[in-house]
Amino acid sequence: MEILDGKLVSNAVKERLKQQTADRIKSGKKIPHLAAILIGNNGASETYVASKVKSCSEIGYKSTLIRLPEDISETSLLNKLNELNDDFDIDGILVQLPLPKHISEQKVIETIYPTKDVDGFHPESVGRMVQGLPTFYPATPYGILLLLEHYKIETKGKHVVVIGRSNIVGRPISIMLSKNEYPGNSTVTVCHSHTRNLNEICLQADIIIAALGKPEFLTSDMVKPGAVVVDVGITRVEDSSKKSGFSIKGDVDFQNVASKCSYITPVPGGVGPMTIAALMMNTFKACAAKDPS
Ligand code: NAD
Repeated sequence: MEILDGKLVSNAVKERLKQQTADRIKSGKKIPHLAAILIGNNGASETYVASKVKSCSEIGYKSTLIRLPEDISETSLLNKLNELNDDFDIDGILVQLPLPKHISEQKVIETIYPTKDVDGFHPESVGRMVQGLPTFYPATPYGILLLLEHYKIETKGKHVVVIGRSNIVGRPISIMLSKNEYPGNSTVTVCHSHTRNLNEICLQADIIIAALGKPEFLTSDMVKPGAVVVDVGITRVEDSSKKSGFSIKGDVDFQNVASKCSYITPVPGGVGPMTIAALMMNTFKACAAKDPS
């Protein structure tokens, strides 16, 4: 069994971007600039945004962190987004999810210009992704592709079982892996909360992507020997032995599943860091698209 080391691959991606950013600066080109909006004081969101901002500074990008109160009105948030849309220096805009209940996630997603949609959630980005046109891929599925590519995991003709069909992970990764390119050309089965015989379906999988948000859901009796297992899940569970009072669990029972796999991602240190690397790739691309031709 080999670990798909997201931390290592993410660092390699960021190192490449650092070099490319230094090259841009040397040749007088624009420095990539990411704007991140954080609403309220959700602990997990704080951590995610902090690591995105830190990655920007490690690579040499500019970043602007905008903190807004939990009770900000939807109109004020949309106005802020329009300001960022119109600001030439901002290349990418991300709004950390989840949002407070009184704000429509869909309105927020649709307000960000597709040219600055580095999270790849705008319907135009998703539509272009489905049609195989150049666009921003959503960060988590894109990070998974980068990880599979780094370890040269064969995907052609393989049966991929995706557990979860959310707009940000399950559905996009299922489309991306079914495309006629590498990583892709897989036969993909998308499973969800209404799927029957999930165990039997998983047992047929060459590659399993678990993205359902249920700690240690995928157990060893669901995994074929030699399968590749990608664990997207991140759930905070109470843990009094930890100073923080919680530990992070993935969707895979790593302890018992790992020995059956050919490759497996750990949690933490697997898909999480790759999501950030993919966001950094998208930000670079958004900036480079503004270069005079
Ligand atoms: P979601 O809640 O939007 O979707 C969960 C999906 O799982 C749904 O489509 C549902 O149908 C399916 N599901 C639920 N119970 C099921 C069951 N018993 N059997 C089969 N399918 C079932 O979740 P999401 O936003 O896609 O996130 C999933 C997990 O991935 C969460 O733990 C989240 O924190 C994590 N996540 C991690 C990253 C990362 O960077 N590593 C990024 C995004 C999400």
